[in-house]
Amino acid sequence: MPCKRTAATSSISITAKGYAVDSESTPFKIFDFERRAPAADDVVIRIHYCGICHTDIHQVYNEWHMSKYPMVPGHEITGIVEQVGSSVKRFRAGDHAGVGCMVDSCRKCALCKKDTEQNCADSCLTYNSTELDKVTPTYGGYSNIITVKEHFVCKIPKNLSLDAAAPLLCAGITTYSPLRRYNVDKNTRLAIVGLGGLGHIAVKLGAAMGAHVTVISTSESKRDDAVKLGAKAFLVSKDDEQMKTAVNSLDLIIDTVSAAHDVGPLINLLKFEGVYCAIGAPTKPLEIGAFALLMKRPTITGSLIGGMKETQEMLDFCGKHNITCDIEKIEATPETIKEAYDRTVKADVKYRFVLDILNAFK
Ligand code: NAP
Ligand code: ZN
Ligand code: ZN
Repeated sequence: MPCKRTAATSSISITAKGYAVDSESTPFKIFDFERRAPAADDVVIRIHYCGICHTDIHQVYNEWHMSKYPMVPGHEITGIVEQVGSSVKRFRAGDHAGVGCMVDSCRKCALCKKDTEQNCADSCLTYNSTELDKVTPTYGGYSNIITVKEHFVCKIPKNLSLDAAAPLLCAGITTYSPLRRYNVDKNTRLAIVGLGGLGHIAVKLGAAMGAHVTVISTSESKRDDAVKLGAKAFLVSKDDEQMKTAVNSLDLIIDTVSAAHDVGPLINLLKFEGVYCAIGAPTKPLEIGAFALLMKRPTITGSLIGGMKETQEMLDFCGKHNITCDIEKIEATPETIKEAYDRTVKADVKYRFVLDILNAFK
């Protein structure tokens, strides 16, 4: 039996339709539910597109052991504003808008006050989470409409197409945030590990910031793509000879890999006191041999998406540099979503699946 999740208030009044799973082993099905009617500070968005992030796959299959069902995944959302509440200032009907991984946070704690809402202890994720009342479930972007607090809605620059911009709302900000934190510029020797959804946009962003970008991949077949995306060098991680050529050369490694892997050989590529930043979230712990730590004295760190202010900054940066994602836009049906999940797990996507939501629920 699917666990039943009910809303805390009776103010829900917009009829919504989406795709949900009832458990880790059941297929997607049509799911009818309700979104709240807009409060004064809410924006209602007609969803046009939603990217498929590898996080959706981890969550649907309960790989992180924290899934709640029924689950409507999706946190790379773009669409058009349909309605706004009376105090909304930045949006009006017809605007291009985006929603990422969060839909609320306490907005009072020190982290919220310094625009780091993503690390707030009370942050509300777009799906597989609850609203601030800790009871009302949140449902994501594999659905036709969403009501979101203005603070958690971003403006999509008009020159970016809504389909190819959708993955910026997670993959874009998750990579942009550490690139900025570690001051990436023309003097930075940067490596991106894993050329998938996060990895490919990280290459574009790093190159636009002027860095010398190396892609480290398991797939020799992605070499030409990496160069077209802006990389200056490409290493196959399983080829020791290729890896040796880059020892002691890197300032910053951003690791986007979604599965368990040995981090020691990556640390060996860092300069003394270089930075290794994990953004991938494999289900098993990362392995790091002690000697890599002793010899390199590296900073080993991680990063979770980014705050709302920084997400808008990233979108404006992409607007200025005309950066969007390389996507495979697909019809949204339970079958096509399953096939896209299977192909993503096999690293067989160039480089992000984006669901055509508008046409699925016409
Ligand atoms: P993705 O599109 O599937 O890309 C992951 C890439 O990792 C693959 O393309 C592949 O690249 C590489 N890879 C896969 N299996 C591997 C293995 N066994 N060994 C070595 N490399 C392997 O996934 P994504 O959407 O970019 O997400 C990547 C990870 O980031 C996921 O775990 C996701 O949950 C996490 N994530 C974290 C945040 C955050 O806030 N920190 C935000 C979003 C997503 P190659 O073919 O080039 O080797
Ligand atoms: Zn994501
Ligand atoms: Zn907070």
